[in-house]
Amino acid sequence: EADKNLIQNSIRDVHDFPKEGIVFKDITTLLNNKEAFKTLMNHLEERYKSYNLDYICGIDSRGFIFGAALADRLGIGFVPVRKKGKLPSTTVCEKYELEYGYDEVEIHLDAFPKKKPNVLLIDDLIATGGTATAASKLIKKIDANLLEACFILNLTFLNGVKKVEEHTKVYAVLDI
Ligand code: IMP
Repeated sequence: EADKNLIQNSIRDVHDFPKEGIVFKDITTLLNNKEAFKTLMNHLEERYKSYNLDYICGIDSRGFIFGAALADRLGIGFVPVRKKGKLPSTTVCEKYELEYGYDEVEIHLDAFPKKKPNVLLIDDLIATGGTATAASKLIKKIDANLLEACFILNLTFLNGVKKVEEHTKVYAVLDI
C-alpha cells in the first residue's frame, strides 16, 4: 500500500494535453524518481517471476520502457508492438478505432523465435482498451500464448479492462 502510494504520487497530471479538456497522466516523473521506478519494477518482478514467461511484449512507446526493464529483470526477451510503418521486416498488422478515425499496430511476423511462447503484454496506461485489444490480437495471430496484459495505470471510468478481458487476463498496478 505504501509502495502503491509512492508510485501513484510520482505520476503527474498535465492538464489540456494533448488537447484542451484532457488530463494527461505523465509517467516521466515516475521514471526520473529512482525510488518510485525501482519500487514499481520490484513489484512487477515479484508478480511475474513465477509466470514462466518467454517474452515481454511492450506497446509503442511507453510500454517499451517498462517492458524492456522487466524483460531484463526476468532474464527473457523483449518484443515491440509498434505503430504502423516503424518495423523494418515483415509484419502482421491490426487496425483499431480511435475517437476520430483509425490507427494500426504491427508486430514482426517472426517476433518470437520460440514456438508457442508464453507472453506478457505491457503498457503504461489503459484508457478505452482499443490499443491493448489490437496488440492482444496480434500476439495471438502469430501463435503465442498471451498470459496477461499489464498496465501501470487503469483509467477505470473508461471501462477498457472489460474490452481487453475478452482476449486475455488483465492486471493493473493502479486503478484511478
Ligand atoms: P486506449 O487505446 O484508449 O486504451 O489508450 C491507451 C494508449 O494511449 C496507451 O498506449 C497509452 O500510452 C496512451 N494514453 C492515453 N491516455 C494517456 C495518458 O493520460 N497518459 C499516458 N498515455 C496515455
